[in-house]
Amino acid sequence: MRATVWVFVMGVLLCCCSMDLSAQFRRKIKKPKPSSNFTIEQLAPGVWVAISNDYYGKAICNAGIVDLGDRTLVFDPFLTPSVARELKAFARYLTKKQVSFVVNSNYRNDHIRGTQVFLPNASVISTSITRKEIERIEPEEQEWERKHAPTLLQAVKKRMTNASTTEKEELPFWVGYYQGMVESVDELFTATPDMIFDDSLWLTGTKLSVKLVERRSGNTSSDAVMLIPSLGIAFMSDLLSNERHPWISDGSVEGWQESLKLFYEDTLYHTYVPGHGKVCGKEPLRTLYEYLEDIKTLCESVKTDSAEIALMHQPIPQPYRSWFCGRFYQPNLQFIINSTRQRSEENSLRVRQY
Ligand SMILES: [Zn+2]
Repeated sequence: MRATVWVFVMGVLLCCCSMDLSAQFRRKIKKPKPSSNFTIEQLAPGVWVAISNDYYGKAICNAGIVDLGDRTLVFDPFLTPSVARELKAFARYLTKKQVSFVVNSNYRNDHIRGTQVFLPNASVISTSITRKEIERIEPEEQEWERKHAPTLLQAVKKRMTNASTTEKEELPFWVGYYQGMVESVDELFTATPDMIFDDSLWLTGTKLSVKLVERRSGNTSSDAVMLIPSLGIAFMSDLLSNERHPWISDGSVEGWQESLKLFYEDTLYHTYVPGHGKVCGKEPLRTLYEYLEDIKTLCESVKTDSAEIALMHQPIPQPYRSWFCGRFYQPNLQFIINSTRQRSEENSLRVRQY
């Protein structure tokens, strides 16, 4: 009898204890304050996107949070550790778990620099090419930014006074970019991915599964797209930018167009998260494809140096004139002109060798 009472008392105590612990746990995960760097949007149960705020925000790219059920995944954790800490707090709050996976879709600073705040708990995933590129580029780039970012920040702030109206709208984005670099430089290190893949990788959870798909020679030499087939959602990273000029000089226009066509035509997907810009349906994939086609056509018409100079001075074609990142337009043209020239030189060399 006494034993029964003892078991009952212990049971009540344990129960109270565990209720108390779970209440404490619940209390600990407070709703984070809204961030001035990004806004969270829920796309489906268990899937959120953090849209970068272009107005002085320091996130710069869009990120994703996926509750796989047993584990939590973060996609492209922003430009700075400080903004990534905000994202981490949201991931914890929304999924009630620590982050287990961080995906780096490509090697660019805005997609990878926040990774370090998820270590050592999370595995960092990228394609093997992206990992090599991070190792090769990142330490040098951090050093370069340490020296030059403060000057660039001052220059952008100064530009505010005599910029055109369109440029003025965009300058806060660049202020956020360089400000983010300046503020984070002292705490940065290179967080190299420890889980690599080629071609594709499934991450299977108890609630949701995602498929990472490698696309080579598009936006960069290797980009990872994150697909959630059961929900028709595709996180496209820099293979898609919505109403802003992409930076094309790190990849191949043809390969990029191939990827856009592939995901546009895949009827399984209806919701696309671009690396930059608003979440969208299929239309912006076609628009970006046409943008690439249009500037290719413009560049192909250039046969002489004077025609090249004239093209560089022409305004941006009307459908794309209001897009963000207009400063990428001329380098994009230059990249295509140079690549076309290089290809034709290689071809003529080959013909001479025959
Ligand atoms: Zn990007």
